[in-house]
Amino acid sequence: MRRDQWPSTPWLPPDCPSTAVRRPRPPQYFAGTERVPYIAPWTGENAPLGAITTRHRRGGVGIGYADEYGIADRRRGALWIRVPVKRGAGAPLLGRVHALRQRQAMAHMLCQYCGRPADDRSDGRYVFLLQAAVGRLITDGERTATPPACGGCVAEAVRGRSLRSGYVAVLVEDVTAWGVAGIVYTPDPVKPVPSTAEQFTLVAYDDPRLPWTLACREVVALHGCTVVDLAYLPEQIAA
Ligand SMILES: [Zn+2]
Repeated sequence: MRRDQWPSTPWLPPDCPSTAVRRPRPPQYFAGTERVPYIAPWTGENAPLGAITTRHRRGGVGIGYADEYGIADRRRGALWIRVPVKRGAGAPLLGRVHALRQRQAMAHMLCQYCGRPADDRSDGRYVFLLQAAVGRLITDGERTATPPACGGCVAEAVRGRSLRSGYVAVLVEDVTAWGVAGIVYTPDPVKPVPSTAEQFTLVAYDDPRLPWTLACREVVALHGCTVVDLAYLPEQIAA
């Protein structure tokens, strides 16, 4: 991970200590025998969408919150969706993603399953588990909003049922910030361009639509990719 690609003082959710402080091991939760992913939201974290309005900022016009407060609401110029951080409250929503824990995992290369650092390989590469239709090539610069996974969790996912067919493991040499996935708004009137929560628009950090985008996922680009077939080489993935 090229740390120089990230802001020197990344925004951290309330439950996340400064990187200067040793990060505590996040608690692990299970639904039956299946580990609840670190980035999964919980019913206790539900909240209505904040009111979006037009804001004039130094860089121009875009969307914002009426009661916006700087570093907590924005990152790299993008307005971020507001969601409570109460991991473990209520019931887990498996298959869904908590926006701020996803961002935290991307910013610090944390495992999407256990939330611990995913830099446990001796060769310095990260493992990303990506959906890949048969025949689709994973190329340099591949974009993803799915955080990496540590070796132990990859092995667990391969053994269990959390990974269905259509996934590949990708060993990645370098990860760079690319942009966000979110909801793009129109200026007049201020309203979202029709899209669903599962069909966010990918917007690069240099895209002129960025000021009009409500960011819901951090998107990174993967470089130096080597694809590993989950069905045949799980031991290599977890090496
Ligand atoms: Zn893990």
